[in-house]
Amino acid sequence: MGEPIRVGVLGFGGLGQACARILQLKSEMRLVAVADKKGYAYNPEGLNADDLIATYHNQGSVGYLPGVGVASSQSIADLMANAKVDGYFLALPNLPNTFMADTARQFIHSGWQGVLVDALKRTSAVEQLLNLQEDLQKARITYLTGCGATPGLLTAAAALAAQSFTEIHNIKITFGVGIANWEAYRATIREDIAHLPGFDVEKARAMTDEEVAALLDKTNGILTLENMEHADDIILELAGVCHRSQVTVGGIVDTRNPKKPISTNVKITGRTFEGKISTHTFILGDETSMAANVCGPAFGYLKTGIKLHQRGIYGLFTPAEVMPSFVR
Ligand code: NAD
Repeated sequence: MGEPIRVGVLGFGGLGQACARILQLKSEMRLVAVADKKGYAYNPEGLNADDLIATYHNQGSVGYLPGVGVASSQSIADLMANAKVDGYFLALPNLPNTFMADTARQFIHSGWQGVLVDALKRTSAVEQLLNLQEDLQKARITYLTGCGATPGLLTAAAALAAQSFTEIHNIKITFGVGIANWEAYRATIREDIAHLPGFDVEKARAMTDEEVAALLDKTNGILTLENMEHADDIILELAGVCHRSQVTVGGIVDTRNPKKPISTNVKITGRTFEGKISTHTFILGDETSMAANVCGPAFGYLKTGIKLHQRGIYGLFTPAEVMPSFVR
């Protein structure tokens, strides 16, 4: 086995911290760089998950990690300029809805070359990245977008399951998320609130933490989401599986209980070549957390991205176009 892939994680909230703990268990990848809003930590020899998490919780930023932390209000730009990283997972809030595309542009203009993976959720956010296809290719960046759970793992499962059919009728994704408290995943919850009737991304972004808590108090901590604007639709359309209008996404999020309120699943209904109508169902194990189902696939796609990059294949890819590679 060669040298481990040098990984950076941008954003150190709920997902970013889970990433650090996962990478601690992997030998093929080494976490060397982490950034949050107020600073960054970089160590080519590797960063320790427990130290990062303790520093983030006690001092508010990984920038205070002794020896390797740097406080900064432009931590992403600083890492781009100073760190040797093969691939980054962007565990950043997409607030405003243009934030991820702006970050991608920042990478393109910096001259950095490598692999980027995000877990974007909104169709309109993925569309912004599609517009960067040529720029990414020219910049020699291999960018895999929408590589979390949904979109991501479930979208890839749908693309695979579709193979049994000659005609796809509908693809229905239903997710159940259970988290102990909403503050552990502020961006995820705000972005989910943006899908509720009467809300949008800007409105959810402008809410104070107290306003979010008050809203959750009214529903006993439960968010029920229907007909969400989720990029699984455009990703499956781009992969040629079906029209985006045939894909629906909804779910239930319990922000006060780590137990999932319902099982996360994707149902793919279609007609076989013999004329039989049937449904494939892929159900995630209830014990697997949102973090496990987002960060695992994200690193699997990062490993695939590295292989593509090494072969000189650059530009934007979706989780329905390539398979994630298992990271040992
Ligand atoms: P969070 O709110 O817990 O943490 C966000 C982190 O980003 C914080 O550490 C913050 O300091 C950092 N950050 C914010 N602005 C920054 C900046 N300008 N520079 C550097 N760091 C900055 O977020 P989360 O709940 O972990 O969610 C992260 C993203 O993952 C969200 O966009 C969410 O929608 C997405 N997500 C996707 C899926 C999926 O299945 N595709 C599932 C869950 C979450």
